[in-house]
Amino acid sequence: MGKEHTERLRRAGEATEDAGLHALLVTPSADLVYLTGYDPLPLERLTCLVIRADRDPVLIVPGLERPLAEQRLARHVTEIRSWDETDDPYALVAGVVGAKASRLACTDRMWASHLLGIQRALPKARATTASRVLGPLRAVKDRHELHMLARAARGTDEAFRRLLEERIEGMTEHEVAGRLGELMLELGLDRVEFAIVGSGPNAASPHHKPMDRSLRAGDAVVMDFGGTTGGYCSDMTRTVVVGEASARLREVHEVVAEAQEVAVRAVRPGVPAEDVDRAARQVIERAGYGDRFIHRTGHGIGLEAHEDPYIVEGNAEPLRPGMCFSVEPGIYLEGDLGVRIEDIVVVTQDGARRLNHAPRELTTVR
Ligand code: ZN
Ligand code: ZN
Ligand code: ZN
Repeated sequence: MGKEHTERLRRAGEATEDAGLHALLVTPSADLVYLTGYDPLPLERLTCLVIRADRDPVLIVPGLERPLAEQRLARHVTEIRSWDETDDPYALVAGVVGAKASRLACTDRMWASHLLGIQRALPKARATTASRVLGPLRAVKDRHELHMLARAARGTDEAFRRLLEERIEGMTEHEVAGRLGELMLELGLDRVEFAIVGSGPNAASPHHKPMDRSLRAGDAVVMDFGGTTGGYCSDMTRTVVVGEASARLREVHEVVAEAQEVAVRAVRPGVPAEDVDRAARQVIERAGYGDRFIHRTGHGIGLEAHEDPYIVEGNAEPLRPGMCFSVEPGIYLEGDLGVRIEDIVVVTQDGARRLNHAPRELTTVR
């Protein structure tokens, strides 16, 4: 637990109060890592950080994990209370929150068993999602976070560049995904989180799971992959062609590349997040593919691959310097081909800086 965690806990307490909530309840998740650096396994035994504006945070842990928690947390910042195997941990939470509490926020990814236990122990309380409180805090990255995100992006870029030097025609989607994973680990990422490889008609399915289809001449291949460095995520997409590209593929790729460029240029402090989505969508609509751009333009990235801010129509939240998110328009023609291009960008004082630099043009692979 470092200095940044003390500050984050203080701001989370303030934000909880500003939102009119009695307490913020955080179970093992990116929220807990963000606030304390503590990263125990999420299990059926309750671990729960209770944050209230009017008192120091209390971390409730199973007795057998007390040594771990004491090792990892500064006790002057977080009081640790443990429970024994036959105790009711939810009653312990209720004791710290206060029986009169009526409004709580709980980690978005809290297990239902824990949320239901908390609701039983505090029947008067209504719960909302913690992202309402923590989303705006986590969305703006500090220097260390930006450094880690840039490192993760660099390793991912480099993995793609190295893959382009290899012969992949004839390999299956599975094999290409595995190779991307190996390269990411070789190039300094700690963990591979995912690798989508969709070839030919499979490229038209944005969240395709790699299968045993072999890459063949003329295929568009969408590669969307990422991992983590020091807990921070990377996520990038490139679309390549095996051998010669059809006229349709070249046209679609050009439209997506332009949409991506225009959207990145729309990023500036003060601009509503949805304007970046509109910028990308306008280019694609004008080219006649509006109904084939079937997802939002982007998502925030940090300790999680998808987090605030979401770059989508309806999110009027103004962008702020330090926000970090993907810009990833795509066009998907069912049964035929798909194209997506994705970079992570950071909002600067007067625009945007890309963290990914791998070539975006329609690269021919062998
Ligand atoms: Zn996606
Ligand atoms: Zn992606
Ligand atoms: Zn993404």
